[in-house]
Amino acid sequence: MIKINIQKKLHMAGGDTALRMNTELEANSFTALYGPSGAGKTTLLKILAGLIQPEHGRIEVNGQTWLDTERSINLPAQKRSIGFVFQDFALFPNMTVMENLRYALPDRKDERLLLQLLEAVSMQNFAQRKPDTLSGGQKQRVALIRALVRKPQMLLLDEPLSALDNEMRTNLQDVLQQLHREYGLTIIMVSHHLPEIYLLASHVLQIQHGQIVKSGTAGEVFGWEQSVNSITLLGEILSVDPQGVKVLVNNQVIIIAAAGNWQIGDKVTIACQAADLTLKKLL
Ligand code: ADP
Ligand code: MG
Repeated sequence: MIKINIQKKLHMAGGDTALRMNTELEANSFTALYGPSGAGKTTLLKILAGLIQPEHGRIEVNGQTWLDTERSINLPAQKRSIGFVFQDFALFPNMTVMENLRYALPDRKDERLLLQLLEAVSMQNFAQRKPDTLSGGQKQRVALIRALVRKPQMLLLDEPLSALDNEMRTNLQDVLQQLHREYGLTIIMVSHHLPEIYLLASHVLQIQHGQIVKSGTAGEVFGWEQSVNSITLLGEILSVDPQGVKVLVNNQVIIIAAAGNWQIGDKVTIACQAADLTLKKLL
């Protein structure tokens, strides 16, 4: 169980606001953080990682206290059992893939684990390559397993797949699912990509202005309906024309006659039950 109760002043463009969060996550769960830019998602990850200290708070991870401001406990980042992947996945350009991984290994002995991790992401043939000879998706795989060489309990991912094209993204989603299962990790991932959240996350925290405004499964948080005999598609409104609303769903455009105050870019669900189609705005 991961218990998080923190308060931290945030310096925003429009003045100060506070990050205030009090929540519990199951060990080995996969949580998605969803919310607009500036909501405090990265700050939360950095507080968990020990890179930013909140004014007040407690963080307890599987019975171990990482932070307790009342008792002046604040484990430094390297004593917290975490792996962290930022969006830009900063690999050392002058080192090969293997050297990058070795560098992250505390005792620099467990080469077997490195090979096993390389294999887990199908990168065993790239061990001697330098990062600038790899594709974005391959670099991201290396960054992911580099975050795992210390066998962390928790993996923090800050929009790790957002720079990748669809095929790479799908590929890496598989890798993440597999690593999550095999290594029993607790994963917290920032993502704006609803299908990805739906696929990967067992739990979603929706964050706005430094607060958790909703918490639950993707279905609960985004209000997707689940019922037998129906399918629900996720889409985005492309245009609102007299003949109907054009919605982009999985690279296809579907035209639906649906009255409503739709805006281009609205994320919507299309629910199809028997022959009835209904369009519903997300959030
Ligand atoms: P998000 O990742 O959700 O886009 P961030 O956590 O990066 O949001 O930032 C939330 C707000 O907190 C921003 O307005 C940012 O300027 C501010 N902020 C970022 N780091 C700190 C810090 N160390 N101390 C105080 N405020 C910060
Ligand atoms: Mg961020």
